[in-house]
Amino acid sequence: MDYKELLARARTKIPEQLSDGERFKVPEPDVLYEGKTTVLRNFGNIVDTIRRDKEHFLKYLLKELGTPGTLDGTRVIFQTKIPSAKISERVSNYVETYVICSECRRPDTHIVKDDRTTTIVCDACGAKRPVIARKARAELPKVSVGNVIEISIDAIGQKGDGIGRIEGFTVFVPGAQKGTKLNVKIKTISGKLAFGEIAK
Ligand SMILES: [Zn+2]
Repeated sequence: MDYKELLARARTKIPEQLSDGERFKVPEPDVLYEGKTTVLRNFGNIVDTIRRDKEHFLKYLLKELGTPGTLDGTRVIFQTKIPSAKISERVSNYVETYVICSECRRPDTHIVKDDRTTTIVCDACGAKRPVIARKARAELPKVSVGNVIEISIDAIGQKGDGIGRIEGFTVFVPGAQKGTKLNVKIKTISGKLAFGEIAK
């Protein structure tokens, strides 16, 4: 038996988590922009490394990034443009939340679910902890009551109000002149119509 064979034989006797643990490194997202979409080219690679359910991981990313997207083989296509740093951050958050053991910092864990709780169990040290998903920061839409936003007034309505369009909303601003750009405080919202006043 030569050295290589010996080595190979020795490896098969080492539990996987011991041979892999120290080298655990999540691949950096490999991102490509195609038109208005963002392609995460190494999604499959990342999933293989973290050994979690790909549907779960994908769902998490879509929710956290606030974008629609689909699996395309081993890639994921997000339907909006997302900076790769943002994807990186969300991947790290996922790994912290669902993969890394908080006791020994190893990735050799698995997820146990029952009706109420999701628990992460460490195969290396035996620690168990409930998974506490960090709440996604609710990003307020810019057009919301009380917000002051900059709007270009590009039309005048029948009653003389200035009208601007932003984020799919039509905003009416009494006293605003056509062709101006001003800060408007949103007073009320009704469907896709908003009413504001010129902010002082
Ligand atoms: Zn552990």
